[in-house]
Amino acid sequence: MSRSAHPAGPRHADVLTEGHYTAPPADLNALDPKVWAHTVTRNEDGVVSVGGIDVATLAEEFGTPAYFMDEADFRSRARSWRTAFGHDADVFYAGKAFLSRAVVRWLHEEGLNLDVCSGGELTTALSAGMPADRIAFHGNNKSTEEIAKAVESGVGRIVLDSFQEIVRVAHIAQSLGKRQRVQIRVTVGVEAHTHEFIATAHEDQKFGIALADGQAAEAVRRALALDGLEVVGIHSHIGSQIFDMAGFEVAARRVVALLAAVRDEHGVELPEIDLGGGLGIAYTSEDDPREPHEIAKALNEIVTRECEAAKLRTPRISVEPGRAIVGPTAFTLYEVGTIKPLDGLRTYVSVDGGMSDNIRTALYDAEYSVALVSRASDAEPMLVRVVGKHCESGDIVVRDAFLPADLAPGDLIAVPATGAYCRSMASNYNHALRPPVVAVNDGEARVIVRRETEEDLLRLDIG
Ligand SMILES: *Cc1c(COP(=O)(O)O)cnc(C)c1O
Repeated sequence: MSRSAHPAGPRHADVLTEGHYTAPPADLNALDPKVWAHTVTRNEDGVVSVGGIDVATLAEEFGTPAYFMDEADFRSRARSWRTAFGHDADVFYAGKAFLSRAVVRWLHEEGLNLDVCSGGELTTALSAGMPADRIAFHGNNKSTEEIAKAVESGVGRIVLDSFQEIVRVAHIAQSLGKRQRVQIRVTVGVEAHTHEFIATAHEDQKFGIALADGQAAEAVRRALALDGLEVVGIHSHIGSQIFDMAGFEVAARRVVALLAAVRDEHGVELPEIDLGGGLGIAYTSEDDPREPHEIAKALNEIVTRECEAAKLRTPRISVEPGRAIVGPTAFTLYEVGTIKPLDGLRTYVSVDGGMSDNIRTALYDAEYSVALVSRASDAEPMLVRVVGKHCESGDIVVRDAFLPADLAPGDLIAVPATGAYCRSMASNYNHALRPPVVAVNDGEARVIVRRETEEDLLRLDIG
């Protein structure tokens, strides 16, 4: 957390000493292009628009809360990852960040591959026409049914996550008369989150097989011996919302060392390495993410250098960005409801959604920004906490932010950078109806995931 305290007016004196928020921005009407989707602008009348359609029109047509996704921005981010890595590498979009059939089609058209980690994600991907050989299947506890479906449909790779799974996948593939391409997921002893990474001696987490104690080497040994498997490479994923390349550097070095050990022991040079996802985005103006071409250059250099040192042919690299592609492309639009000023503390602004459409603040203490978007305002900044309508005091959407002091019920506010891990983690808590995702492009808006209805809720309740 890189927040700092700045004077914000005498009535905030009590909380200022806690230092939990930044200074009010110089201009509350300004929209920082770092955190908003590409086509988002404030029009001359003060109303914000995306893809050429203003938010008042969008709210009228689609209701609130709702996620609005800038399709052109999504496509251009997908394309810039694709071009940055070129033809010697593969970009797998991590479907868990947000997956729908429209998104699958955009990815397919832009030449990206897709990571899935459940039968449901696999079904979505296949039903939208993603070729199976461009799909990778992940997960630490894939069911027998999920594995069988993945093998039968011909997924390009299954990422093996445990010793038991090595045997299970080999057995299922063999019984289906197939040889499944697999990677082995290793834990390299690096954990990276935002600006920091920690290199530890051994791993204490549920994913992957530790490089430490020769366990990963043993996994490769066992997998190579099984007829149902074609071992194509090693996989590593070190964390999320990462800005610093140092963690990837350590991970790449350790994965290449394993490739060299495998070559020495088996005379086999595994042709692929996957360095995972986890690249950070800007949720607030204080975050400074790197561009895909900088990331590609850094990763390629690290891997090439390590392979030269180990006298290995450079393997084909793949990466798996989720958040970095979809995160910045969407915002959540809310209508302001009750406003409760707490003297000397802050003003609680309640919106018509909350932890059911964005759990990240409650779950990870995530930071977000917010702006008044249905009009411009010259009022003084007011320190606010944006909260939802759920029966939890932890139901916070934006912990600390500034909105104009003339904010009133009925105003529309928007939280940017909610494209990743918001709709995909949305819940029905308090029987909330999960909001729609609306793709906006060039003056046209189209629902790609519709709003849930009360009939949807009752359909599952068959008591
Ligand atoms: C979650 C995950 C990703 C994507 O992470 P982002 O932070 O969205 O980039 C990629 N690979 C694996 C294996 C993951 O579990």
